[in-house]
Amino acid sequence: MMDLGGKVALVTGGNGGIGLAMAGALADAGATLALVGRNADKTEAAAASLAREGAPAPLALTGDMTEEQGVAVARVAAQFGGLDILVNNAGVNDRKLPQDYALSEWNALIAGNLTSAFLVSKAAYPLMAARGGGKIVNIGSIMSIFGSPMSAPYAAAKGGLVQMTKALATAWAGDNIQVNAILPGWIDTDMTVTAREQVPGLNDRVLARTPAGRWGRPADLGGAALFLCAPASDFVTGIALPVDGGYSCAA
Ligand code: NDP
Repeated sequence: MMDLGGKVALVTGGNGGIGLAMAGALADAGATLALVGRNADKTEAAAASLAREGAPAPLALTGDMTEEQGVAVARVAAQFGGLDILVNNAGVNDRKLPQDYALSEWNALIAGNLTSAFLVSKAAYPLMAARGGGKIVNIGSIMSIFGSPMSAPYAAAKGGLVQMTKALATAWAGDNIQVNAILPGWIDTDMTVTAREQVPGLNDRVLARTPAGRWGRPADLGGAALFLCAPASDFVTGIALPVDGGYSCAA
């Protein structure tokens, strides 16, 4: 039920943090991996770390998912003959009070977290339909559920990602494509290093509010990603699964 042998997976933003950890879980289950990120050196190094004996060499693609979605998906198909799994993990944040965002900054955060995931999914759809099915996993956030004074556009995008997940799930269920979301809690990555710098007191608040009593690690996301990319979840679609040490269930 968890075997991904013969499956081709694309992880956007898979060159570090949560994306690389999820890609590792998919590679360990036998998937053939492609990663895309804007930083070529980081993406090459990440792809090299995912090499597994007996599996095709992982593909490292350099690209910006707000602009070059179709190119990346086409290159995966050209290299590996198709696409079965898409993890829309690429994301960005820039934290400030709502009144301080310029329109261009708002638009960039919506594009980087929501529109890009829609357009990569749209590019992937015909390839998955042609294979008789597929899996799409969108990486939301606890900001998909909760508000934060310092993340209005990010929260709007991540909330929208959950609704988009449900819409795509209903649209593509007949093609045997399952579309689900994962909502990570506070995970220790490059992104949250900047959060700890930009939001005073954040570290202590996260520790106090998370029932598990710790920040998450990227590897904590691997199991949920594998489940939602594997045959084990073939009748699961349209859900948003928190992986947050209990953050979202705590009063
Ligand atoms: P990182 O900053 O480590 O990872 C983000 C990745 O996305 C990077 O690999 C980056 O690579 C890539 N990326 C960003 N924008 C683009 C783009 N336009 N095109 C292609 N690649 C892009 O952060 P995390 O691992 O923490 O974040 C991964 C996902 O998890 C994000 O969607 C984030 O919103 C989400 N998340 C994270 C949480 C946390 O606590 N860390 C909590 C909730 C959600 P490059 O710079 O090379 O393009």
